[in-house]
Amino acid sequence: MNISIIGAGIGGLSSACLLAAKGHKIEVFEKNESAGGKMNELKEDGFRFDTGPSLLTMPFVLQRLYEECGTSLHAELELLPLDPICTYFYQDGTTFTNYEDHKATLKEIERIAPEDLEAYEQFLGYAQALYHRTADAFIFNPLYDFSDFRQLNLLSFFGIDAFTTVSQRIDSMFTSSYLRQFFKRFTTYNGSSPYQAPATLNVIPHVEINLGGHYIKGGLYTLAESLEALARSLGVNFHYGAGVTTILTKNKKAQGLKLENGEEIYSDLVLSNSDVTETITQLLPDEAIPTWRKQQAESIEPSCSGFVLMLGIDRKYEHLSHHNIFFSEDYKTEFRQIFREKVMPEDPTIYVANTSHSDHSHAPEGGSNLFILVNAPYLSDQYDWETNKKAYGDNIITELEKRGLENLSAHIQFRENITPEDFYEKYRSNKGSIYGTSSNSKFSAFIRPRNKSRNIEGLYFTGGSTHPGGGIPLVIQSAFNAANLIERYEE
Ligand SMILES: Cc1cc2nc3c(=O)[nH]c(=O)nc-3n(C[C@H](O)[C@H](O)[C@H](O)COP(=O)(O)OP(=O)(O)OC[C@H]3O[C@@H](n4cnc5c(N)ncnc54)[C@H](O)[C@@H]3O)c2cc1C
Repeated sequence: MNISIIGAGIGGLSSACLLAAKGHKIEVFEKNESAGGKMNELKEDGFRFDTGPSLLTMPFVLQRLYEECGTSLHAELELLPLDPICTYFYQDGTTFTNYEDHKATLKEIERIAPEDLEAYEQFLGYAQALYHRTADAFIFNPLYDFSDFRQLNLLSFFGIDAFTTVSQRIDSMFTSSYLRQFFKRFTTYNGSSPYQAPATLNVIPHVEINLGGHYIKGGLYTLAESLEALARSLGVNFHYGAGVTTILTKNKKAQGLKLENGEEIYSDLVLSNSDVTETITQLLPDEAIPTWRKQQAESIEPSCSGFVLMLGIDRKYEHLSHHNIFFSEDYKTEFRQIFREKVMPEDPTIYVANTSHSDHSHAPEGGSNLFILVNAPYLSDQYDWETNKKAYGDNIITELEKRGLENLSAHIQFRENITPEDFYEKYRSNKGSIYGTSSNSKFSAFIRPRNKSRNIEGLYFTGGSTHPGGGIPLVIQSAFNAANLIERYEE
């Protein structure tokens, strides 16, 4: 079949590889000049930054993708396990290092929270059990039609802890405020709030702590480059600077695409890696889809967005690891401001990736490349980025100076930021969200858009705004789901 793919993000690239490997003829249309979407890179003045993801989890999903395409993860990329995984800095000056080596982490817990040593082990066991109950049912399952839902085991559904929140479960298991904040942080991996999301999301610490967090040698963007090269080797054609304005339809069936330059491309199927809300509200003609369906797509709550500050500096801070988190004092207020008030937190938790710690080529000799990320509300009229972005970035720098990055501002050689508005303008992600849809409701897994349209025949979806969700492994899984449904319904 001839398949047109809108977008060359990780979802579009993975789908292109999988479908080309199955013998389909694939054309990818990407509005930007390079592949990767939100997984991208910036090189300037001798500094190199990943501008999107910095941590790869569940690499076995990626391994499966490469295998389906006749190669292997080992042959394509070099994964570096990071030890320590991450260093945490609390407001009172306490630090906590989470090591790959379990025993070393236990020693750290004995030092900062001896009362919770047993709870730590219990929690990881509980998170692992959640993973076993949810992975096959909710992640590795397209959940599209009756045959998929039949696989859900109702008994285990009641064991996935969906009736309390992440925060409530963690508070019930830990006494230490340090470990409470540490474990609540993982909910932000899919852009949700620990105070609203169901405790089922406590599965995420299992994925990072028990299964491991990885860095890709050369930077995460190497993955996008590798998938693009693999797709090309399988015969996929890429068209860059080729924004799609319309999905052409006839009798409620997708026929092809119209590009910004007016060109019309006809194909048997269309697979959209553009955000689902954007696809439905902006790319489908009004006559193709009922108004209520567009309104429904608009009402989907996006994940949070992010404010990114990239600093190239001419020195090293010896206490920084590859991944670092500087926690806020009051986590609850921070999340209320982001998710309820939709303003930037006054006292944010600050993530700093310092990849020059592991990859010396990412900064000039003696320097560091600091990629700084703060969770931000998705776009609304509650916050004006144009007015605030410079001052907000300055505040982050001042805060980091107070937290041990002495004289940071005096060492800056290069500075650039990315705001939620940029995420929308550049990648068309709904309201600037960076992980697709939020998981702030216990029904999120059921209401997240599926990988096949129920309104337009021949229209499929892949990417973080579709099932099973955001983050690299889940986005790759969404490509498996789309390919699976295409095989089920079209062949
Ligand atoms: C700052 C940041 C940090 C992150 N950290 C992590 C992390 O550490 N680990 C992790 O696993 N995940 C992380 N994520 C999330 C991860 O990056 C995303 O889940 C994933 O990259 C999304 O891929 P996608 O294919 O769904 O979408 P996108 O990357 O948004 O790709 C969609 C593509 O479609 C194109 N497009 C859209 N509309 C059109 C159109 N009309 N015509 C043509 N092209 C179009 C866009 O330009 C884009 O290239 C992070 C994201 C960000 C931004």
